[in-house]
Amino acid sequence: MTITGEQIIASQFSKTGSKAFTAINPNDGSTLLPEFWEATTEEINKAAQKAEEAFMVYRKKSGKEKATFLEKIADEIVALGDELIQRCMVETGLPEGRLSGERGRTVNQLRLFATLLKEGSWLDARIDTADPDRKPAPKPDIRQMHIALGPVGIFGASNFPMAFSVAGGDTASALAAGCSIVVKGHPAHPGTSEMVGNAIVKAAKATGMPEGVFSLLQGASVEVGMALVNHPLIKAIGFTGSFRGGKALYDTAVRRKEPIPVYAEMGSINPLFVLPGALKEKSDAIAQGLAASVNLGVGQFCTNPGLVVALDADETDNFIRTAGNHIGAATAGVMLTGGIKKAYDTGVKKFIEQDKVMIVATGKQGETDYQATSYLLKTTADNFLANPELTEEVFGPSTLLVSAQHKDELLEIARNIEGHLTATLYANEDDLKEYAKLIDLLERKVGRLIINGFPTGVEVGYAMIHGGPYPATTDSKTTSVGTAAINRFSRPICYQDFPQSSLPPELQNDNPLDIWRLVNGSFTKDKI
Ligand code: NAP
Repeated sequence: MTITGEQIIASQFSKTGSKAFTAINPNDGSTLLPEFWEATTEEINKAAQKAEEAFMVYRKKSGKEKATFLEKIADEIVALGDELIQRCMVETGLPEGRLSGERGRTVNQLRLFATLLKEGSWLDARIDTADPDRKPAPKPDIRQMHIALGPVGIFGASNFPMAFSVAGGDTASALAAGCSIVVKGHPAHPGTSEMVGNAIVKAAKATGMPEGVFSLLQGASVEVGMALVNHPLIKAIGFTGSFRGGKALYDTAVRRKEPIPVYAEMGSINPLFVLPGALKEKSDAIAQGLAASVNLGVGQFCTNPGLVVALDADETDNFIRTAGNHIGAATAGVMLTGGIKKAYDTGVKKFIEQDKVMIVATGKQGETDYQATSYLLKTTADNFLANPELTEEVFGPSTLLVSAQHKDELLEIARNIEGHLTATLYANEDDLKEYAKLIDLLERKVGRLIINGFPTGVEVGYAMIHGGPYPATTDSKTTSVGTAAINRFSRPICYQDFPQSSLPPELQNDNPLDIWRLVNGSFTKDKI
């Protein structure tokens, strides 16, 4: 398939700009062709206008029709075959196995949302029937459900070029909710973005979806993204990336004449607490697993464990030695972009320049500007508590081990950390009793609590929460992974005393879509 380097606006290719950028192969630093054209103001306006027109039609499509569209997108992505994987490999430096797995995750995610749409419970349909004889006042008929917000702007992430990019979780959940979308592709993998964008266009045509339900804008400067966030026709934003980027988009969105929600997933250090009983029982296994989790994907996961907390004890020394041996043996891996590698080096340097931070182990040195060296660093709890900068995310294969003198100091760390995506406890039964307070504290700080596992690896399902209190995200009430992500792009509406013929099918007495509904306080699929 030929990659054009142009924008895809409502199923048409468009090139009106004169500012070009290229992707870089992080394996060798070479420039990849073709050139990509930065979207112009005219193109951004057109994409938003087409998204608005499409929304008026698309929002009325039934759950089954939208499900067919999502399933067809999945099929079209699979049909891109090896060509997609090969292009993605040279744009990202990620290995074939990882990308094949990520493609599987991406299409499964689309199919999961299709299943949700067919089943319909996400609409949260509620019906309170009327009681005209109620005294002292008659009770009206009130019926509630969720409807789509409007055209949504979505930012592709660099570290998941498929699963959090053009047809990733934000796209799947927004399309499932009934929103049309305009994607701002990540400039690190524009060819992959265009290929996947084409797959969406083909699927839209094949399933009779309106033109403009999807557009892809390319750009390597912040202006394209900012213009999208500022566009009055855009009604919500989905983003995964840096704190700086996410916060800038959020601040812009709330200052608009009409503020809009920004669902930004921005980063996390995912604290891991290794408790004394677990350490006694399986110190070596935890150390080995920790090193593998830190190095997974060259540390470029938002769920990377960047902070490990343990009590100062003989077992902890052994644990640190073993983890150090594994991290010391790690080969240098290719990072996604030169910018991410530079940010990683700067972050590690900032830590190790501190007097009280020690280097426990250093992995193999990289040979190019894109290869990152792994680090295991160590400091004391009092130093950690006195230095807020040690809680900053260092995006890459490093972790900071903090040793606490006693239980209260360990709890103090939990009390002081900010919002994160996850927290993990390595604990046996006795630890869980002794440290029940730790769970209490961590429940207020994270979206996902894990026992005896590692945070890298996020299941896509009905119960997953990939979110957390600020600054991990800009809205702790939701998730960017799993079916609950659909709620970001919908809102509730209720209809009072509507005749049957004017109600949406979801709320009609006959329940023609056969969905679960809360009727007068009880869940049922029955007709009324
Ligand atoms: P990024 O800098 O946040 O960029 C992500 C996307 O947001 C890009 O499309 C970028 O557009 C856009 N963007 C960023 N700042 C913006 C602004 N002020 N205004 C408008 N648009 C803006 O993320 P990245 O390039 O993928 O990686 C950089 C750093 O982000 C990493 O070093 C890491 O710390 C962090 N990161 C975190 C996660 C996570 O999962 N939480 C994932 C990836 C990266 P342009 O490129 O066109 O400017």
